[in-house]
Amino acid sequence: MNDQFRERFMAFDEAKKIQDKGLYAFFRPFKARQETIVNVNGKNVLMFGSNSYLGLTTHPEVIEASENALRKYGSSCSGSRFLNGTTDLHQELEQRMAKFLGKEEALVFSTGFQVNLGTIPTITRKGDTIFLDKLNHASIYEGSRISEASYLRFKHNDMQSLEEKLGTCKSEGIKFIIVDGIFSMEGDIANLPGIVSLAKKYNAVVMSDCAHAVGVLGENGRGTASHFNLTNDVDLIGGTFSKSLASVGGFIAGNKETIHYIKHKSRALVFSASMTPSATAAALASLDIIEKDDSIRQKLWENTRYAMEQLKEIGFDTGNTETPIIPIYIRDNYKAYEFVHKLFEEGLFVNPVVSPAVAPSDSLIRFSLMASHTFDQIDEAISMMVKVAKQIGIRLQSKAA
Ligand code: PMP
Repeated sequence: MNDQFRERFMAFDEAKKIQDKGLYAFFRPFKARQETIVNVNGKNVLMFGSNSYLGLTTHPEVIEASENALRKYGSSCSGSRFLNGTTDLHQELEQRMAKFLGKEEALVFSTGFQVNLGTIPTITRKGDTIFLDKLNHASIYEGSRISEASYLRFKHNDMQSLEEKLGTCKSEGIKFIIVDGIFSMEGDIANLPGIVSLAKKYNAVVMSDCAHAVGVLGENGRGTASHFNLTNDVDLIGGTFSKSLASVGGFIAGNKETIHYIKHKSRALVFSASMTPSATAAALASLDIIEKDDSIRQKLWENTRYAMEQLKEIGFDTGNTETPIIPIYIRDNYKAYEFVHKLFEEGLFVNPVVSPAVAPSDSLIRFSLMASHTFDQIDEAISMMVKVAKQIGIRLQSKAA
């Protein structure tokens, strides 16, 4: 093998250093369903690190629909949506998502990541400028990076910073503002009212990636645009089926001309195999549930309020979260790993978010609620966090601690 090539990878030791300390917390294999208790390598632990916010991945109707589709259509579509991988289920899902989101049309992709890879470079051209929130998801950055347009970053959810960038942009092309609807690690909500008003002032196009917001925010979980009553002012709404919608795959919704164009020009759509029939049916069944029964989403919010009250009272640094994604800021990479490791030993699964994903001073533990958690499970998880925080010297900011 080429030595230079081999050395390139041998030099990578970030993960090995953490493995050597016994603190590695990635790729932990589940041996059974992802519910509020998960089995990781034979050990049962409380799950507070899931994106299955509504807990629908094990809902009997979702499983039945998925099984039926597997039997009827087989295990794979064996090709791209464009040529030989579209079923009537994909088309039904597109129609249902468009209606649900209040847009003319929708298009489904095989993952949420591919939505951004397949949409952003397709709708933008050389001479255009894309304005990105600093904390946008990696897939938005990847889509922007491969676009021929240039892109600028503005300070996180900071309208003054966005306006400065819009105001000083000299390009003649179209301006695009693209943000996460709910920020995936920090849990705060994009300031769509501020963004929409700046978009009007500077004649910009707005796209919101509602990966974490669908099923969580807005009328029956229609996402961030619905939450702010701005569905008509947000041009494109993207997202994923891998979180509240209990499947895998993603969508982009907008006016019919834009969707028609993406459908025929997006390389990530045209040259990649489609969502499996069972995944498509699972997303459809989840959509049925969230459209007809808002009580699951309400329970998610009850759990969120219940947990937040306690976490604040105890004095954990939870940043600016407003949603079931609760960051517990540790602000030190090593301590974040240690916290997650010791919590796992106690019986709690949470995720570390450390550099290079975030600056070391922003390292955090991502604690997320599901509608299916009980108050007892929340109490238990929080008491484990308090115990371990004290053991490893994480500073709490309240007298109650
Ligand atoms: N967009 C955002 C905002 C996300 O948070 C994620 C996943 N964390 C994605 C896109 C990618 O979605 P998927 O995992 O379905 O590929």
